[in-house]
Amino acid sequence: MKFYICREKGEPKPFRIAIIGAGPAGLTAAGYLACRGYEVHVYEKMPEGGGMVAFGIPEVRIPIKAVREGVKDLEKLGANFHFRTKVVYDSPRELGDEWAERFISLERLLSEFDALLIATGAWRPRKLKIPGVELSGVYDALTLLHHIKMARIGYYSWDRIPDFKGKHVVVIGAGYTAVDVAIEGRLLGAEKITMVYRRGLEHSYAKAEIRKLISEGVEFIEFATPVRIIGEGGVQGVEFAKTRIEEGNVITTDEHFLLDADIVAYAIGQLPTSPIREVVCASEEILKDAGIFFAGDVVAPRNIGTAMREGKARAKEIEEWLLKKAPKRVFPVSMAARLVNQVINGKC
Ligand SMILES: Cc1cc2nc3c(=O)[nH]c(=O)nc-3n(C[C@H](O)[C@H](O)[C@H](O)COP(=O)(O)OP(=O)(O)OC[C@H]3O[C@@H](n4cnc5c(N)ncnc54)[C@H](O)[C@@H]3O)c2cc1C
Repeated sequence: MKFYICREKGEPKPFRIAIIGAGPAGLTAAGYLACRGYEVHVYEKMPEGGGMVAFGIPEVRIPIKAVREGVKDLEKLGANFHFRTKVVYDSPRELGDEWAERFISLERLLSEFDALLIATGAWRPRKLKIPGVELSGVYDALTLLHHIKMARIGYYSWDRIPDFKGKHVVVIGAGYTAVDVAIEGRLLGAEKITMVYRRGLEHSYAKAEIRKLISEGVEFIEFATPVRIIGEGGVQGVEFAKTRIEEGNVITTDEHFLLDADIVAYAIGQLPTSPIREVVCASEEILKDAGIFFAGDVVAPRNIGTAMREGKARAKEIEEWLLKKAPKRVFPVSMAARLVNQVINGKC
């Protein structure tokens, strides 16, 4: 997998750039900047690079080998990687943190580097808030997929993964994560998989993938939303309400139905996980003036292609900013830290 193709490496430049997050956005930015001759350091909490592509997307869709080759190319180009290193400011505990062995503060990076790119993705699953969600056998699909992927590539033992054999799996949602949990469910031996979506198939950006799953035997129920998970000790079923769409909004009706279930996996969205919490609601312009840039899923949901394009676009902006503003003089560290504080304390 090529994150960046460098045709000719530029002369060394006198600026150092830190990139937080080695997903598609951070890796493409690292490739661009290393190719232009900048000193690039990538900080990544996981043991290797690739982000969701390495640690979320199923191995049958994108093999880890391809991701590793792409990261190796960037190392050869001169990008410096600091794996198992989490950058912290006010970060809460997030998915994947167990892999971090070192913690480095955002302030320290601000003092040691000329510019910063935050490309930390969206690793916090949106929680389903209905009765019964705490029953055993109910999972958020992102965590489940992450654990399955870690088992497939040798970081986890399989006894941490639920047994899918002969089970009926109900998947709530119709995005990439829902699709992938259905794919893994089938591969792990589930007898039946039912996907349920509160809108219509046509509304899903993953409709092509879902059509393929339907042709392979996955059941897809559209216009229904879960209201309650049923079971004693473990999950036994899910109660849904039918929905209709009015002026783009989902309206829940009084018409209910039940589905039996042995495993429920909900994939109802992911939230950005920036080392500066809620940072995206802050004025990005203020942060840019302090030399802090953002790219990829941490800004808003993207896909691999758009995250890579955005990584490259932000890297170009960083370059322009470095050349025009000579940041060390215009924004000394204390000023940058103060701006970050203003954003955290006042604006969000
Ligand atoms: C299950 C699933 C399936 C998908 N399928 C597809 C698909 O088929 N096609 C497609 O185009 N897109 C797909 N996507 C979306 C795609 O994976 C993302 O849009 C893309 O990975 C975003 O790239 P990113 O670099 O912004 O973030 P990520 O890939 O999430 O990478 C962010 C990186 O930052 C690291 N990080 C986070 N916080 C810190 C910190 N504080 N310190 C250090 N490191 C940190 C994380 O460990 C991670 O490695 C899928 C997503 C998921 C979850």
